Amino acid sequence: MSDDDQQSAWMCHVCDRPFLTGVGEACSVCYKVTCPQHLKRVPVAQPSGVLVLEPVCVTCQLAGML
Ligand SMILES: [Zn+2]
Ligand SMILES: [Zn+2]
Repeated sequence: MSDDDQQSAWMCHVCDRPFLTGVGEACSVCYKVTCPQHLKRVPVAQPSGVLVLEPVCVTCQLAGML
């Protein structure tokens, strides 16, 4: 029996934990894959002035607050 597991593990760049299930979402600022625990949807102003909720990792959120 061959187990063709094509699902590749992904790792959260904040907590460095490997995840075998699901798909990691990329931060819209640093484009690094982040787990749901460390990714928050924050309103980001678009050039048109419209606020759009974008996924931003906690690292970029802290950096933006400084
Ligand atoms: Zn994480
Ligand atoms: Zn980020």
